[in-house]
This record gives sequence, C-alpha cells and structure tokens, in this order.
Amino acid sequence: MNDTQRESLQARGVHTLLAQFTDMHGVAKGKYVPLAQLDELIETGAGFAGPSIWGTGLPRTGPRAEYYARADLGHPIDPLPWQPGYARVVCDGFVAGQPFEACPRQVLKRATARLAERGWQLKTGIEPEFFLLQKQDGRWVPADAGDRLDKPSYDLKSLPRKAAFLHALQETLGGWGRTVLQLDHEDAHGQYEVNFAYDEALASADHLMGFKLAAQALAEREGWVFSMMPKPFANQPGSGLHFHVSLWDLKDPAHGKGLFSPSADERAQGHDLSLLGRQFIAGVLAHAPALCALAAPTVNSYKRLVVGESLSGTTWAPAYVAHGPNNRTATVRTLPGRFEWRLPDASANPYLATAVLIAAGLDGIDRGLDPGPACTEDLFALSLGEIRQRGIPLLPQSLAEAVEALASDEVVAAALGPVLHGEFLRLKRDEWLSYARHVSTWELERYAATF
Ligand code: GLU
Ligand code: MG
Repeated sequence: MNDTQRESLQARGVHTLLAQFTDMHGVAKGKYVPLAQLDELIETGAGFAGPSIWGTGLPRTGPRAEYYARADLGHPIDPLPWQPGYARVVCDGFVAGQPFEACPRQVLKRATARLAERGWQLKTGIEPEFFLLQKQDGRWVPADAGDRLDKPSYDLKSLPRKAAFLHALQETLGGWGRTVLQLDHEDAHGQYEVNFAYDEALASADHLMGFKLAAQALAEREGWVFSMMPKPFANQPGSGLHFHVSLWDLKDPAHGKGLFSPSADERAQGHDLSLLGRQFIAGVLAHAPALCALAAPTVNSYKRLVVGESLSGTTWAPAYVAHGPNNRTATVRTLPGRFEWRLPDASANPYLATAVLIAAGLDGIDRGLDPGPACTEDLFALSLGEIRQRGIPLLPQSLAEAVEALASDEVVAAALGPVLHGEFLRLKRDEWLSYARHVSTWELERYAATF
C-alpha cells in the first residue's frame, strides 16, 4: 500500500513530503521529509522537540519531551503546485507512542468520535475571509492602492487586479479535489473571501489549513502578505471565519436529509431546525462566552466583535448571543436544515473551534436546552438599552473576559483536555497582559499633553 502510494507520488514528480501538523494557535508547522521516509512517517512520525511547539506543555527532558507528527493518510497527500516536488501530508501529534491529547487535530478527533458513538457526523463549510496587505513607509496597507470604494463589497473593478492570485488559489484547491464555490471581494479594502464545498468536520479543518498554506505562499510570490488577522483596520470590517454547520446520520450514507432538517410540522411552526438542531444551537449559545476564547482567540478579535459603524455602514460581525432565521446580525444565523456560526474569526484554530462547537452542541442536546425565541430583528439597528430590554446577552468584549469564561466552563474545558485547557489559559492570559501593559500611540496622543 505504502509502496503504491510512494510510486504514484514519485510518478507525479514528488521527492519530498511536507509533514505538517497544527499548533495551538492554528499555525501550520512541520518538516521536510524525503519521500523515501514515507513508511517511517506513517508508522512512527517525524520527531520534534515538544516544548518548541506552542501549547504542548511538554517537558524539555525525558521520554515525553519528543513530539511525533505521524502521517494520517485518511487525508489525501496534496502536492504543492507552488513548490514543485513537494507534497503535504497531514499529521497528528503523538507522544510516547500515544495520541497526544493536546494536539488540536487529536482534540477534534476526540470530539467527532463522541458524535460517531451516537451514530452522527458533523459537516462544516468554513468560509475564510482574509486581507492581502503590504507594508508602505512602515504602515500596513491593502496590497492594492486602487481599492478605495466606500462600500467595497463585491467590487468588480478592483477584483481583476487580484484575479491571477485568486485563480492560482482556485487551481490549487481544485487540484486537491476541493470544490471551490465562489471567490469575491469582501467589505473592506484589500479583503477577499474564498468559499469551498462543505465536508466532514475534520476534513474541512484540514482543507482550511491547506488553503492557508497555499494562500500564504501564493501571496508571498506577489510580494503581498496574506493576513488572517481579524481586524487590521479600525474603520473597516474584519475577517470572519463563518462555519456552516449540519449534522448527519452515519447510517444514512446517501445523506439524503440531515438531522437538523425540520419536519413539515416544525417548518409550519416557523422553525428552520429540527428539535435536535434547536438543542444544539441552544448549547452553542449557552457556552458562547467560553467558545469565544477559541473562536475569537486574539486581543485583536474583540475589535471585530463590536457593534458599530464601519466605512461601509456595518461590520456584519456578531456582538450578541442570539439566533434568527437568515439573521446575519446574530451569532447564529439559521437556514433550513443548517446554521451559520458567525462567531469565529480568521485567527481561530479550525480544529479547536470545531471541537468546542461540538462539545457545546452536545451539551445542549444532553440537557435538552431551548435556544429561546428566534430573533428576526436587525440587531445592529437597536441601541444597547433595547438589546438589554430583550434579554439578549453580549459576547465577551475582550480577550481577558473570554479567557476567564473559558477558565470556568467545564464542558468546553473537558473538550480541550486538561493540558491544552491549561496551556491555552496560560498563554492567552500572557497575551492579554502583554497587550494591557503596552503603551499605545492612542494613549500618548490622548493623554501625553492633557493633564
Ligand atoms: N466580515 C464579516 C465578519 O467579520 C462578515 C461579512 C459577511 O457576512 O460575509 O464576520
Ligand atoms: Mg463574507
């Protein structure tokens, strides 16, 4: 089997494998491994110094100091067209011969296994928004000086200037068997979105990591920086990473009708989702503060999750814990048979965000939670007072708030496992402290000569 695999890769000109895993921050890491070492990569894995990887909490010495990235051939080996001769192998973390509990991909595998025990499979369609940036006179600016409209959504005048890049991305993803659905100019200068078909949750997260590698390499070739920073410009929308979520019966391979699809009666009562789906989103809403820590994991994330005017009129980012039919102003937008989780931003680790989403949804199902009435209002049009009157909670307003919510959420903590939960809290508290202690230009401008 491995011989056939190796020969077919060789025939396609591959000489080196990129053994890739993902760290706590959602960043791809790895090593180059000659194709001849494929067996070793499958059986043992490539070795790394464990403590050199974010979020492992591994010691510097002893048998547990070694982190092995072991190939999972459940994901196809993807040749890298921008780097001929190289192909990406998706790997899982192993320590001392066992699946490593704090490897984000293992965390997601544990979550999908909990679904499989019940005969279920989760599918996600992840929608990355991103910026193409460059540095000019020490300032970060969009990598297109002509991209200036007040409302740049769907702009076809500047899009052709990025067509070659987007096409190379489309060809790459297509070559990997991913169905690209749409590519567009988003609502900020220098911001774009690429959509590919939904897939089983682990496969979708793997695809997103492949997408990031490809976009980063192709942008660099043009002299641009591919950015998944959630909110580079204060007066413009940020980058979301929305998840379209549906649940399926493993015994129904034809996948005719998802488990979130409402019955005719439920539809007649105005429900987009089945009872199971409503319980799932109730869990997602109930755990929203802790989920925020994983879905919006940076200091900068909370500059996106605010209500306010942007250059184009609105940011379209959710700030309130609510759900509603086709309501893009709520955290959960429901559609017949599925929902869009609008909380995650582009800096989220797709494995961890999906794993905690599953944990929250299952908790909603197990406790038979009710998501409350659907919200049909434009929440962005309401004042904070009106939002409060309706009893709609606000999402955490800072990384510090979200991280403390994660510290006390047992359901989400259990999904991460004690090592990753502890490491995440430690590193994100540090990140917040470093930000809080930094004296910014804003502060100097505001206070230096004021008192
Ligand atoms: N960019 C927005 C966000 O940060 C979303 C825009 C959209 O709905 O496509 O979530
Ligand atoms: Mg979008």
